[in-house]
Amino acid sequence: MPRPIQATIHVEALRHNLARMRSATPDAKVWAVVKANAYGHGIERAYDGLRGADGFALLDLGEAERVRSLGWRGPILLLEGVFEPRDLELCSRLGLWHTIHCDEQIEMLAAHKTQVPHRVFLKMNSGMNRLGFAPARYRAAWTRLDALPQVEEISLMTHFSDADGERGIDHQLSVFLDTTRDLPGERSLANSAASLRHAADPQVRGDWIRPGIAVYGSAPDYPEHDVGHWGIRPAMTLGSKLLAVQYLQPGDTVGYGSSFTAGEPLRIGVVACGYADGYPRHCSTGTPVLVEGVRTRLVGRVSMDMLAVDLTPVPHADFGSEVTLWGTASNGALLAIDEVAKSAGTLGYELMCALAPRVPVVVA
Ligand SMILES: *Cc1c(COP(=O)(O)O)cnc(C)c1O
Repeated sequence: MPRPIQATIHVEALRHNLARMRSATPDAKVWAVVKANAYGHGIERAYDGLRGADGFALLDLGEAERVRSLGWRGPILLLEGVFEPRDLELCSRLGLWHTIHCDEQIEMLAAHKTQVPHRVFLKMNSGMNRLGFAPARYRAAWTRLDALPQVEEISLMTHFSDADGERGIDHQLSVFLDTTRDLPGERSLANSAASLRHAADPQVRGDWIRPGIAVYGSAPDYPEHDVGHWGIRPAMTLGSKLLAVQYLQPGDTVGYGSSFTAGEPLRIGVVACGYADGYPRHCSTGTPVLVEGVRTRLVGRVSMDMLAVDLTPVPHADFGSEVTLWGTASNGALLAIDEVAKSAGTLGYELMCALAPRVPVVVA
């Protein structure tokens, strides 16, 4: 009998969330962003829920090959473009569209021998200072690309640093719009947060949105808004079971470092889930957990293979009871990954991507 821990990928939730992103940006095409193995969900497992997208965006060439071998004939975009000249051969062979964010990538393309000209996305650094040409150099890069026989079509792209927060996107948007004003080509600007928060403006929607996190059912701007507010559903459930029950007397402590001390008699459950499964060790006493679909709290420190929960709100819980670390319980109760992430001082992104390989995954 394996340990009872298991992750479930909800294909229907992926489908729903994708449709939700479409309805937020009705006239735009949608890249389903599936980098980092579909944010930890598994490209092959997520594919059925996401095949309604107009294209798949990712950055690992191996992942692009996997999407093609699933039978996807539509667009695939390499979000960081190529890393070395031979990557362009794969682009030609698999028909991959690729980002051009620096001069070195233009050089590589200019030296590339191909019968099939490439579709490229020219990236502007409009203020995030990660990838892309500075606005003052953007048009020159466009002109150079436009003159290359290896280039079939140029699209225009940028990325926002603060679409989820207070600073917003206006400072970057105006730079992008000013610089690209009379350039032809499709535009792509918005990640999940920009698509949900700022896409009332058709210039933000552009021709292609690039949602990742929202498709997987995490609110990009939590705690300002939660999944309920955005109408998205968790695509991943991390579930397990109680493998022991302990009775504490006042003064008894729980786990390594005795960080939790019972103030009164307390029944606790020990869950088969720890940081070696990808549950964050930084979650402390009080982090929400569902037992039999009832909300309770973590007590004490998370250890490698186990953690403890307060059974006071679920007196009927016992050995073998269902535990939901995040996602949806069998009774339909929901625990957003964002809430757990917040307790650990991180984001839903990190938790889903960090699901450990030892956790068995099923598709529902
Ligand atoms: C990861 C990524 C996205 C998706 O961002 P989310 O916040 O997950 O929606 C979009 N565009 C680029 C360039 C990315 O790297």
